[in-house]
Amino acid sequence: MSAHADELRDVFRGFFARESPPARVRAAEDAQPPGFDSALWARAGELGLPAMDGATLAELAVAAREYGRAVAPIPLVETLVASRLLTRVGADGAPALPTVALQPAAGVAHLVPAGAVADAVVALDGHELVVATDGAVATAVPNLARAPLATWSLTSRTVLARGADAAAQHARAVDEWRVLTGAALVGLGQRAVEIGVDYAKARHQFGVPIGSFQAIQHRLADVATAVDAADLLVAHAATTDRPDPELAAAAFLAATRGARDAAAASLHVHGGYGFMLEYDIQLYFRRAAAWPLALGDPADELARLGDLLADAGWALPEPPPSAFRAEVRAVLADAGTDEAIARADTTGTVHDWAFHRRLAGQGLVAAGWEPEWGGQGRDDREVLALWEELERAGAPTDGWGTSELVARTLAVAGTDEQRHRIVPRVLSGEILICLGYSEPDSGSDVAAAATRAERDGDQWVINGQKMFTTLAHEASYVFLLTRTNPDVAKHRGLTLFLVPMDTPGIEVTPILTLSGERTNITYYTDVRVADEWRVGAVDGGWDVMRVALAFERRPTMVGELDRLLRQYLEWARRRPGLLVQAPVRTRLASAFVDLEAGRRLSERMAALTAAGELPIVEGSMAKLWSSEALVRAAASLLDTLGVDGVLSAGAPDAPAGGAVELMHRHSQVTTIRAGTSEIQRTIIAERGLGLPRSGR
Ligand SMILES: Cc1cc2nc3c(=O)[nH]c(=O)nc-3n(C[C@H](O)[C@H](O)[C@H](O)COP(=O)(O)OP(=O)(O)OC[C@H]3O[C@@H](n4cnc5c(N)ncnc54)[C@H](O)[C@@H]3O)c2cc1C
Repeated sequence: MSAHADELRDVFRGFFARESPPARVRAAEDAQPPGFDSALWARAGELGLPAMDGATLAELAVAAREYGRAVAPIPLVETLVASRLLTRVGADGAPALPTVALQPAAGVAHLVPAGAVADAVVALDGHELVVATDGAVATAVPNLARAPLATWSLTSRTVLARGADAAAQHARAVDEWRVLTGAALVGLGQRAVEIGVDYAKARHQFGVPIGSFQAIQHRLADVATAVDAADLLVAHAATTDRPDPELAAAAFLAATRGARDAAAASLHVHGGYGFMLEYDIQLYFRRAAAWPLALGDPADELARLGDLLADAGWALPEPPPSAFRAEVRAVLADAGTDEAIARADTTGTVHDWAFHRRLAGQGLVAAGWEPEWGGQGRDDREVLALWEELERAGAPTDGWGTSELVARTLAVAGTDEQRHRIVPRVLSGEILICLGYSEPDSGSDVAAAATRAERDGDQWVINGQKMFTTLAHEASYVFLLTRTNPDVAKHRGLTLFLVPMDTPGIEVTPILTLSGERTNITYYTDVRVADEWRVGAVDGGWDVMRVALAFERRPTMVGELDRLLRQYLEWARRRPGLLVQAPVRTRLASAFVDLEAGRRLSERMAALTAAGELPIVEGSMAKLWSSEALVRAAASLLDTLGVDGVLSAGAPDAPAGGAVELMHRHSQVTTIRAGTSEIQRTIIAERGLGLPRSGR
């Protein structure tokens, strides 16, 4: 957020904390009409809140989010939207408390939000945009959020616009409502997570805080991630004052899902106490379901997003253009990318020397490196653009990825000699480095590595076995995690080496995988390596691993999802009967929401890295969201293909050349490698939410 947005947030957060504590929300629920606190409304007026004349949509979204956190008993969003609409159409007079009917009306506006307390209702009645101001209010009705809903008769009204203009004005107002209600739901979801986290820290069962149970941690980590994703998506949709309809719908849907899941998770974390009216979480739970329903069934909203995407020719949003991005595209177009992909598919080796060296020759492998390394000094946002383009093209870059992360680690933790001997050769595309961390008995618990390294004069003798040493059959070095001291705590007895792969005693055996990718088992028998290849201190390997693990996450995580959707759509466009089917449209719409949200999480990670921070929790959120979204999308798009969905690449008539079927298999590994989804959830729960350490 900008400094200005931070300041605004602090002002509104302070206001709602002072003026709208939960006791006041409860008191308003019992008032008549329910859900409206007129004194609070007056105080909000003193702050300029209900009108916020001249404010941008982004500023209103900041206010709406803080209002949502407090579930304040005033109709802030509806009044803001109605006021803007009345101003836009040049309506006479300025009602004190206008509201808007979201559903098209037919002489009667049904269950209007804030209808029981409004002095004006703006509605789309047939082909006319009208404002009704005459006391035609029906009595407030009992309802889920105890909100001041009421049905209005529109008989006494003034016409504001007619025909297409009326429909367009109303549609824009409803889009603004989607964005601002999305913001309010994000605030509600954030607070629901906080309430759940506080309870989970304080409540003990079985002698420990319940927040140390993984079942609790992981559910809260999932909803915290979903709410963060929705927050970024809402902010993105609010950047233009006239929100893009597709982004407004995506933001609203993401916020609806995030807030509902967050409130439900937090209620559940409270056990039986969440069910008691005395606890605040029920206030959030009821509103999380009620607020989105003002627009109707959220499933209809998803279907509507599908229709919008169809109307736009299924053109997925393009990233902002830049000279660098254009350069990368030009190089990829010329580098034989398709042939390299085909070779990688045939061999299972997700690396292609000719392609890799071509890109290295163009300086792209060193793009993010400082000029003293011969790099282009691109910042992390540009590196994000580079990886987006590589992933969109499906380029075989596994070897680049592992080598780059080791080179980065050497730049921080290696000796001068290691840096100067190795880094330039990586950046020029001459060599690859593979990762030797995982073992038969240590995967997620990587610090339990048992491969022994014993000192013998100036040399070390290594014995052991590593699993999943991807690209060991192409690499010049393996970055090997070994145990040098078995007599101390496991994290303290580790040492890392950069071992040349042509050292006698190393054996490489292929492992074939579910999606055809090749990885390897590597065996080390009396492998002798000079001490000069040790990286970091003896027994100080965990410090080096911490650096290496921080570099492991790629700057973008959503490229594969983007590619899957583009491949599917390119094929489906040639089958017009498919893309008109409602179930197909809703699945594509759902994947679109996931993609846009994932993109925002990746951008946040890149922005933090560019600012010199180490975004560990934000990186885990981006990885968790994007890999789980890829699994969901691949499975649901596969289903849309029906019987033909089983056809693999090479089969005549395989839909999209078998790309969806392949991605359904491949997507599984994205939730495993570079830290499983469970490991990411634990990081989010413990380091992000501050929950107590689990008893793993
Ligand atoms: C295709 C592929 C390529 C790979 N490439 C490399 C490579 O180049 N170099 C390398 O070193 N490794 C590589 N790996 C290994 C990868 O990093 C590990 O598979 C991963 O870390 C998980 O370890 P594991 O397979 O032993 O599973 P385990 O750690 O045994 O996990 C099994 C299940 O238990 C869950 N689990 C484990 N611990 C916890 C916990 N504390 N809390 C909750 N749940 C838990 C996991 O989430 C998982 O669902 C690769 C793996 C694959 C499949």
